[in-house]
Amino acid sequence: MKIQIKKNAKEMYIADNTDFEGNYFGNDQWEQVMEKIAGKVVEVDTEQLFKHEFNTKPIEGVAEEGIRVMEEYVEKVIDDIRKGKAHCEFCNETSDSDKVCTNCGRIDYLEPFVDEYEYEE
Ligand SMILES: [Zn+2]
Repeated sequence: MKIQIKKNAKEMYIADNTDFEGNYFGNDQWEQVMEKIAGKVVEVDTEQLFKHEFNTKPIEGVAEEGIRVMEEYVEKVIDDIRKGKAHCEFCNETSDSDKVCTNCGRIDYLEPFVDEYEYEE
């Protein structure tokens, strides 16, 4: 599973971290990270899955430990393995089914990672 970062990730980061008076409170290091990964395809660490964000695997020359990327910065998701899976709010685990939790068996606590209307490509 991979994500392609938006081409304007750095500009987005700067805009997100500038208040309405024009004061910049962002972090130079993050700004550089965003500049380096902008437009690139990076590998997702699928150990932990989220609905609105992604953990990446280490990115050579950018981040030795991988970084957290919010979905706003993602142009597209490639080979999304989250389809049909859900986060269970009861046991706090990833369920391999979005109908019944494959860990605790409950049905009322599942939050699908990908909403059904997003399935079409
Ligand atoms: Zn569960």
